[in-house]
Order: sequence, then C-alpha cells, then structure tokens
Amino acid sequence: MENKEIRFASRPSGLPNAENFQIVDADVSSVNEGEVHVRTTYISVDPYLRGRMRAGKSYVPPFEIGEVITSGAIGEVLESRAPGFEKGDLVTGMLGWRLHNVVKSAELRKIDPRLAPVTTALGVLGMPGLTAYFGLLDIGQPKEGETVVVSGAAGAVGMTVCQIAKLKGCRTVGIAGSDEKNQYLRELGIDATINYKDADVASRLREACPQGIDVYFDNVGGPLSDATLPLLNHGARIVICGQISLYNLDKPDLGPRPQAALLVNSALMKGFIITDYAPRFVEGVMQLAQWLGSGKLKYAETIVEGFENTPAAFIGLFSGENLGKQIVKV
Ligand code: NDP
Repeated sequence: MENKEIRFASRPSGLPNAENFQIVDADVSSVNEGEVHVRTTYISVDPYLRGRMRAGKSYVPPFEIGEVITSGAIGEVLESRAPGFEKGDLVTGMLGWRLHNVVKSAELRKIDPRLAPVTTALGVLGMPGLTAYFGLLDIGQPKEGETVVVSGAAGAVGMTVCQIAKLKGCRTVGIAGSDEKNQYLRELGIDATINYKDADVASRLREACPQGIDVYFDNVGGPLSDATLPLLNHGARIVICGQISLYNLDKPDLGPRPQAALLVNSALMKGFIITDYAPRFVEGVMQLAQWLGSGKLKYAETIVEGFENTPAAFIGLFSGENLGKQIVKV
C-alpha cells in the first residue's frame, strides 16, 4: 500500500518555507493488538505548530529534525484490532502527516458524520471552537452591553469568539487582515470591523469602541494589541490566546509594557492553553454543537486539496490565506 509522510527537515528561521519539510515514501506498519489503521482524509494545520518547530522548552516538546509532523486530523478506519473501532469508522486524533497511520486506539475518538460535517471536528466543534468557548467565557467573562474586541477575528478561533460575544449581548469589534474577511464578519452580525493592514488601528479602535474595551481576546499580539491598552475600561479582561504576529520572530519583540494600564484599570491579563480545560471539553462541545444546530453559530473553512500541499497550507496561515479553519483534504 502506498504511503507517504511529511517530515520536519530543518528548523525555520523567520517564516517557515518548503525546505523545512520533506515528503518521503514510507511503509505502513502492521496492526498489532489494540491498534487501528487509519487512512488520513483531512489534516488540520495550526499556528501553534510553529512553536513546536523552535528548539527549547514549551508546553509541548519541540519536533525533532527528521520526525514526522503531527497535528489534529480525521481519517477512516481501514483495519482495527481494538475494541470499539471497526472498518469504515470515521475518527479524529493527533495523527502524523502521513497518508496512513497505525495508532493505538486510545489516541482516537470516533466522529458521527450524521451530527455535523466531519471537518467541524477540526474547527468549530474541535480544538479551535473549544479555545474560543473557554477563553472567552471563562477568562473574558463577557457581560451584556460590554464591548469585546477580537484580533485574528476571521480565523477559526476568532470568528467563533466574535459570535459567542454577540450571543452574550456584547458590542463586538473584530480586527482582521482584509476587507473580504471583515465583510464576512459583518454578515455574521459583528458590529464593527477593522482591517489592520489598511487602517490606523488605534484611531479606528477609538471610533469602534466609544464606551472603551471591557474584553480583549488576543490572537495576534504585537503593535495591534498594544493599541487596545489606552482604551481599557475599569475591570477589563485581556485573554491571551495567541501571539501569531510574534511566532516567526527570531528575537523577542518588546513593545510598551502593559503593567501600568492593567494597574490603573484594575484589569486582568491571563494566558491559557486549551488543554487546561480538558476536563470540561464535553460541556464545551455540547454547547457549541447546540448553537451550531440551532443556527446561532456559523463557521467557515478554507480547504486546500492534496496531501503534498500541507506545508504550504500551514505557511499560508502567516499571510492570512485562510478564512475560518484551514484544513487540507488529503
Ligand atoms: P487562524 O485561523 O486565526 O489563522 C491564523 C490567522 O492569523 C491568519 O488567517 C491571519 O489572518 C492572522 N495572522 C497571521 N499573521 C498575522 C500577523 N502578523 N498579524 C496579525 N494577524 C496575523 O488560526 P487559529 O484560529 O487556529 O488560531 C488563532 C490564534 O489562537 C493563534 O495565535 C493560535 O496560536 C492561537 N491558539 C491558541 C490556543 C491556546 O490553547 N491558547 C489554541 C488554538 C489556537 P489575517 O488575514 O487577519 O491577518
């Protein structure tokens, strides 16, 4: 059986490029007791993978050179020697960037294609959706009538945050990198949008947030986030979800120090990693699925075709090629 895998070939300096990846032929392992053979159908590419390409300590170990890249994926079971899994089942889990993976069944979760389109398991009903749900509701604590600002607003996490903020009755302001993305956000009912590539973010934020900012959901970091500091209200909550504008920098970027703005506003700034909320994932998925089913929550996906295009789809995250969840159809 033909198998291919994508290995981590070299550590990027700055923006990753095709040479940091190597596509090679591979064998398919035999299936031992407790294991399942999965044919990959969809691969999720995610910004956090850039962090794993950097050597050094983080919340997940870095990829070693020569190692197969892993990320969230969906596949079809071709053979199972594990109870609970049968040929034809659709599953999701952290899989190697391979056409075929043989993995322990404990690493897989079955998905029911009758409940929602399968790709939602990588997006709005998967890790990005849960990140939006817990980050906004648990740390952001949005209250009716408050103003919520979201950066990276047209991405997988950001567009879900924007919509949950609206469901909670907040004035919601999204910041994204193109007019088309911002148009999409306004069609979702987002009150005001800012194209950060085409505007003075500080002055546009002042116009869009006449009552100041109560919650800032930060996916991006850098100067764009610095611009929110002068507008913070008393008791504001800043949710540090991601810092994508910094991921490709080789040296730390020091902007204005935020402590004074936090102090005078009794504001909270808190980071989180979605796995902190693992014990509550079922709660999150059930609520997101209920909003999805009732039409209160919408999602977008950008699907690139072809396994060999997985590195390019990943690199494209850093120039904003995706609207909503970036997925590769294998
Ligand atoms: P997205 O779908 O939002 O894709 C990334 C987007 O980031 C791009 O589409 C682009 O949109 C924007 N972007 C890229 N470079 C820059 C830049 N220099 N400045 C401003 N915007 C930029 O990805 P996700 O929804 O998966 O992730 C969003 C953020 O959340 C990331 O920072 C990610 O690391 C983080 N995250 C954190 C988790 C956690 O546990 N804390 C879990 C999951 C994600 P545009 O066109 O608007 O520039």
